[in-house]
Amino acid sequence: MSNYDPKSLKAEEFINDEEIRATLAYAEENKNNIELIEKILEKARPQKTETGCVCAGLTHREASVLLACDDPKIIEKIYEIAEEIKLAFYGNRIVIFAPLYLSNYCVNGCVYCPYHMKNKHIPRKKLTQEEVKAEVIALQDMGHKRLAIEAGEDPVNNPIEYILDCIKTIYSVHHKNGDIRRVNVNIAATTVENYRKLKDAGIGTYILFQETYHKESYLNLHPTGPKHDYAYHTEAMDRAMEGGIDDVGLGVLFGLELYKYEFAGLIMHAEHLEAVHGVGPHTISVPRVKHADDIDPAAFDNGIDDETFAKITACIRLAVPYTGIIISTRESEQVRSKLLRLGVSQVSGGSRTSVGGYTEETRPHDTEQFDVSDQRTLDEVVKWLMESGHIPSFCTACYREGRTGDRFMSLCKNGQILNCCHPNALMTLSEYLEDYASEETKRVGCEMVEKELERIPKEKVREIARQNIKDIKSSNRRDFRF
Ligand code: SAM
Repeated sequence: MSNYDPKSLKAEEFINDEEIRATLAYAEENKNNIELIEKILEKARPQKTETGCVCAGLTHREASVLLACDDPKIIEKIYEIAEEIKLAFYGNRIVIFAPLYLSNYCVNGCVYCPYHMKNKHIPRKKLTQEEVKAEVIALQDMGHKRLAIEAGEDPVNNPIEYILDCIKTIYSVHHKNGDIRRVNVNIAATTVENYRKLKDAGIGTYILFQETYHKESYLNLHPTGPKHDYAYHTEAMDRAMEGGIDDVGLGVLFGLELYKYEFAGLIMHAEHLEAVHGVGPHTISVPRVKHADDIDPAAFDNGIDDETFAKITACIRLAVPYTGIIISTRESEQVRSKLLRLGVSQVSGGSRTSVGGYTEETRPHDTEQFDVSDQRTLDEVVKWLMESGHIPSFCTACYREGRTGDRFMSLCKNGQILNCCHPNALMTLSEYLEDYASEETKRVGCEMVEKELERIPKEKVREIARQNIKDIKSSNRRDFRF
């Protein structure tokens, strides 16, 4: 008898190896069962309601059947539904952010990460508060409003107090018309007490990648340091929620283990959060292992090709329709273009993955965490998004208006979130165009904003948004939001 229990708070019961193996066997058995697959696809499809749309999502077993299916016609259908869901709940908006690396000191032994403790040739660096300020000014001058801070795990060099000081510094910098309005945090698993401190510091999402759900591999891939503790790492999101953080971001580092195993684990983790806390993950990230100092991705046997990667992303979209999907600059422009259609809702842009990288004239590589494939500037990314019909959004309104956790999810589920997000995207894009864009990007953007304003259904909202955009253009008034 399996001791699988999505409501359990024990890692090995909510991410249960036996249940994952049974799921993979079930998926393999049914991967050509067209009748069942059609039923699953029908369940995943958005259903119209009086107020908008609803989506049922899929269980880890159902979603795993879709992932196992190799029929090109079915895969095409999965992609179509992924796009439908994306348009129903996220419209054509794409939220933009940048990572900010604070410190690469680390006491862990993660074998895929260049910051691992035994790497003696990578220079170790930790930003001072003055340096944090300088990086934030550089990021604001690019046009960023939302950051994800990143740090290695090192209780001596990067204690929670250091992270909290950095958050305070980041929120305190207001350069010209710039400010950082949402700081998401990607730091190692920690205690309820520390999560509470992060919550009090006003963070947005707490992000922690599981790396792999496969316990045995996890232990081998994290041979030393506090991250070796599989249960402590896997149960981190429960502690974060206990500490009051409503929005948490999951992720798997694809390439470390068999992707079908990881996918089932990821969806089970989402189901667990929903079962215990009444709210699923706010975001899911889909990083793939990349080349880095001391790291050769070919050393890992489970690398996935671009097609499989696209299929995984689309299946995530169908399984957890209300969860944002994040794709970083680890991926090339070409891969990002494809995934945008399949359900991605957030991208990073103009990223530098080295400690102190934004204040350097040219991209430094010495302290980099991984090679960045998409090396375009933020302006180029913004223009590219608009030219492919997406509205780049610098909006940070939801959590500042208290729309987090289950409040966000219920607004998202009944489609009401659209009434805020679309005009907010247009107003924050207008700020970007006015303050930071190149002439050409501004021209493309202003045309887009004009057209998109017409698509706001409620006349009152449309008129307020139009007036606010006029104010943005004619004054220094900023930060309008619904
Ligand atoms: N130290 C923290 C932790 O242990 O969770 C947080 C952040 S780390 C800076 C961010 C993420 O980068 C890791 O969780 C890992 O998934 C990813 N990463 C590490 N090495 C990588 C590589 N070579 N290629 C791509 N992503 C990598």
